[in-house]
Amino acid sequence: MKFTLALTLECNLACRYCYIHKGQKHMSPETAGRIVDFIFQSTPPGEKIDIGFFGGEPLLEVELIKTIVGMITDHRLYESERVLFSVITNGTLFSDEIAASLKQYNITLGISCDGPPRIHDFSRIFADGSGSSGIVEANIIKALRFFPFMPVNAVYRPETLRFLPEVIDYFAGLGVRNIYLNPDISARWTREDVAMLPGLYESIGRKYIEFYKAGVPCHISLIDSKIVVILRGGYQPLEKCRMGKGEYAFAPSGNVYPCERLIGSDDGGEHCLGTINLEGPSMMKSCCHDAEHAVNEVCSSCGLHDYCMHWCGCTNFFSTGDYNTPGPFLCGSEKAAIKTAYGIIEQLGREGFTFSDHLAGTPLMSILGEVGALSAP
Ligand code: SF4
Ligand code: SF4
Repeated sequence: MKFTLALTLECNLACRYCYIHKGQKHMSPETAGRIVDFIFQSTPPGEKIDIGFFGGEPLLEVELIKTIVGMITDHRLYESERVLFSVITNGTLFSDEIAASLKQYNITLGISCDGPPRIHDFSRIFADGSGSSGIVEANIIKALRFFPFMPVNAVYRPETLRFLPEVIDYFAGLGVRNIYLNPDISARWTREDVAMLPGLYESIGRKYIEFYKAGVPCHISLIDSKIVVILRGGYQPLEKCRMGKGEYAFAPSGNVYPCERLIGSDDGGEHCLGTINLEGPSMMKSCCHDAEHAVNEVCSSCGLHDYCMHWCGCTNFFSTGDYNTPGPFLCGSEKAAIKTAYGIIEQLGREGFTFSDHLAGTPLMSILGEVGALSAP
């Protein structure tokens, strides 16, 4: 079960592609308390609970994060081995003090950074238009001392797509070993963009192989997630989008959405499932998207059906207006990613790499121990 808490809609950045409608809304401890009850009530016994702190900028609310973690760990149904906490930040507010708090509360950290300064500062700017790359880069380097396998999330847009291989080089140079590449799903992607994907992904794939052979493997989500899926023979039911069933997102107001990407202006409209602030079982409608059983004509006859994320409801919605219908960019990206991952399995497999971590569904976990041993404070 995945629960995302948008603690505030405020942010100290003004990213050009931001889909959060900024406002003064902050989550109250009372609303947070109701969400904590909901989390335990709606999670089947034994199932893992993944709790993400989100925003706006969640590190504006460090005290609230501590309060909520306290509510959860004090809950009568809490079991430490079942619950994971994480926070995704824009990287501008990180400090040694915050790192110590996150460590103390067992919260893992992720930072959003789009790549080298001229790429990052294309979108991730302060309200006065100045770029945030200087402070974010310094904080990534600092944060890696505390969280050596920290994920970094890079968003790319049509204007920055062609620089993706450069983005990988930049992160590898900083010592980042866990890289997530995410397209801006609300951007206007063209046929020309889609045509560039196979070449770009192949280039990233060559870098992946180089890192692997050099003994400094790098988890690149685009590739590793597909290697896992190919080795396992397709996505398993629990790996697919479970929005509104195994995944909920909460706006600061207490409104409930099927996915954090659908909170938007928190207008309580089309995507909203209800509010946590009313009593009773009828407080929520159910989400109409069922990724496990969703059928669309084009994908059901596609040979890549089982390996493709055609079921991602929010990505589909932003490109076609329908939870069940993928757009051309996702389709092209998935085809290119699957082909690249397949090529890597073949090439590294011929050279004796076993992918045992991938088969276990935990890509590159072995390097966790390796870099964990280097972890300083
Ligand atoms: S850091 Fe996140 S919430 Fe803040 S402006 Fe950028 S995308 Fe929006
Ligand atoms: S989105 Fe494209 S690649 Fe994926 S299953 Fe549908 S047709 Fe196949």
